[in-house]
Amino acid sequence: MANCVKITAPGLSGDRRRQRFSRRPQRPAAFEEFFVMPEQNEKQFDPRMHSAEHIANQTMVRMFDCGRCFSAHIEKKKSKLDYRFERGLEEAEIRELEDRVNEVIRADMPVTEEFMPRAEAGKRFNLGRLPEEAGETLRIVKIGDYDACPCIGPHVKSTAEIGWFRVVSASFDDGVLRIRYKLAKPEISAAGPSE
Ligand SMILES: [Zn+2]
Repeated sequence: MANCVKITAPGLSGDRRRQRFSRRPQRPAAFEEFFVMPEQNEKQFDPRMHSAEHIANQTMVRMFDCGRCFSAHIEKKKSKLDYRFERGLEEAEIRELEDRVNEVIRADMPVTEEFMPRAEAGKRFNLGRLPEEAGETLRIVKIGDYDACPCIGPHVKSTAEIGWFRVVSASFDDGVLRIRYKLAKPEISAAGPSE
């Protein structure tokens, strides 16, 4: 796990090493999730959008065996998720991703939290570069029995609150698959995918 060495660790003072890390950060998803700081972005931070991100990540992992997104930009109207990937997605794959995410939403799964010692969490989740400051007890957010992931962000109480998940575009560039999505309001979603 050489690439999990923290850049601030004693003995790694060389600038060369630091640059190499900062040029192409390969953060595991758990790291990224953990550093969502809602207070920095309170106005834009949307529990529905962010909860949909959890479901989309788990669905991407199940469909393609890829990691969770390494970067996420969550905004109220439209959000984007970036994945390390080898190619673009086919139209049929995009529709399947939508269908699977919407299935979890419609199943109205409860979103719950559980606290876990870091050592135990480390066996189940990728905590790769989680710094010591994150503490010894980590919060794990669960979506029914579909997904579990360390996270400090705000979430819906159950998935039906999310509404209707729709991918508005999927683009591929230089090893990065970017998926942009929107949500329709829950009351609209009851009538179907048309906004
Ligand atoms: Zn979260």
